[in-house]
Amino acid sequence: MAFLSFANISSQRVRKEEKAICNSRSCLRKCNSFVPLQFVVKRDVSGPKSYGVRMAAPASSKREVPLNIFRPNKPFEATCISNELIVGKDAPGETWHMILNTDGALRYIEGQSVGVIPPGQDEKGKPHKVRLYSIASTSHGDHKDDKTLSLCVKRLVYTDPSTGEEKRGVCSNYLCDLKPNDKVKISGPVGTVMLMPEDPKANIIMLATGTGIAPFRAFLLRAFMENNPDYQFEGKMWLFFGVPTTSSLLYREELDKMVKENPDRLRIDYAISREQKDANGKKMYIQNRMAEYKEELYDLLHQPNTYTYMCGLKGMESGLDEVMGPVFEERGENWEEFRKQLKKEKHLLIETY
Ligand code: FAD
Repeated sequence: MAFLSFANISSQRVRKEEKAICNSRSCLRKCNSFVPLQFVVKRDVSGPKSYGVRMAAPASSKREVPLNIFRPNKPFEATCISNELIVGKDAPGETWHMILNTDGALRYIEGQSVGVIPPGQDEKGKPHKVRLYSIASTSHGDHKDDKTLSLCVKRLVYTDPSTGEEKRGVCSNYLCDLKPNDKVKISGPVGTVMLMPEDPKANIIMLATGTGIAPFRAFLLRAFMENNPDYQFEGKMWLFFGVPTTSSLLYREELDKMVKENPDRLRIDYAISREQKDANGKKMYIQNRMAEYKEELYDLLHQPNTYTYMCGLKGMESGLDEVMGPVFEERGENWEEFRKQLKKEKHLLIETY
């Protein structure tokens, strides 16, 4: 597959360059022998100072990032345009996609979040606190008129462990029950972490579970479905997407269409935990799917223009460690150090909740 050969050729090239630069002594991460990162030659790069191989700019260094146009104490009143259940009836839990009209007042870019202030009071009689939701649309919105933003919200329903009673999350249930023309108080935008890299030739690895797909839907639509004069994506994207059942695969039609139209530049691997098993007969969680491609991921992670994003359930952070730890160890490298460095240089960007 074109994507695979790209990864391999390109990483070989990077390795050659690295060897030449480090002059065989304090070799960088992909030379044959490992040296601790503190001995790595420090090179001049534009932007923040960087050690080691990662020379490309951090994510979104140039684009204007709007922040806190509306504060929670002075929110914007958006209007619900539509609200659609986007999972099958047999899916474990409901997830809804809602489009809110902002009249363009709350500007944002892909990867940011908004605050939602649910109506009513908490049990202490105080107004409910703001909850954050990733924006699932591009800056142009699903109606492409720069006047809307979309959210992808899972309805929180759980059993209280102490009483055995069914409990419902305040804000998610409020949002999932929105009807067209309902008003919604929103604040923001917030978030400077999950922004797309400026480099249009970047490799973008996206790891999502459940509603963690929201920012990546925005990335993918911007890269493959829009024609922005100031941004033509020429790189590659690879999405790993974990859900419990086929019926809970969010945005599947859109995702499959984008892969079909861009087979050399977009790859999507699904992990459907309650239906699929890995080679060892274990449930197919996102880390089990990633493990199938660990060598390729290892190569990609070493490329200076690779950005890895993770969004969704908190537990998924250790999944990446489970997969990459042993691969690095086999090669005498230290994944923990590498991961720290990636984070520091803004090539590993995580938003879990
Ligand atoms: P609350 O009324 O606030 O109830 C939540 C509380 O219920 C928990 O704190 C816990 O005490 C309790 N609880 C929950 N589950 C259980 C359980 N199984 N057992 C016992 N107690 C439990 N959510 C989305 O759906 N989509 C998004 O795109 C999204 N993006 C986010 C982005 C960011 C940056 C962050 C921080 C969070 C995001 N969230 C998203 C989560 C969202 O902000 C809310 O936390 C979520 O919707 C629940 O809020 P709620 O008001 O419905 O629940």
